[in-house]
Amino acid sequence: MHQGKQVEKQSRLLPLSPILDSDGMIRMKRRTVESPNLDMATKMPIILDPSHHVTKLLLQWYHEKYHHQGQETVLNEVRQKFYIISPRSAVRQAFHRCRRCQLDKPPPSLRKWGRFPRRELPDSFVHSWKSEWTILDHWK
Ligand SMILES: [Zn+2]
Repeated sequence: MHQGKQVEKQSRLLPLSPILDSDGMIRMKRRTVESPNLDMATKMPIILDPSHHVTKLLLQWYHEKYHHQGQETVLNEVRQKFYIISPRSAVRQAFHRCRRCQLDKPPPSLRKWGRFPRRELPDSFVHSWKSEWTILDHWK
């Protein structure tokens, strides 16, 4: 783009109406580009590749800035200034990379099942059951 070439027709950028700004950043031209009340980042957010290292650092920064909250919080904040291609997957990966979130995640619970009330079911059913789930479905 900075050499005056057109974006290829097969490129994922083409539907985003990309524009190269004076800093060399690729921005997306939104419908709000003419609005006088919005700032430049909102009118024309920077397009980021989700697999790029800078994007990963940016998502990590947002993740820590908002105190390791949910993915939707990070997603909403990032979207105000940046356009990430496939953002949900990139934000989810940022959460998976966070060591603190991995340590704070509760371990899977091992539920202890109660005893099975054998005498309330007919003998033919008790002999034919395959798993606990089958029996639980029977009682619904
Ligand atoms: Zn975290």
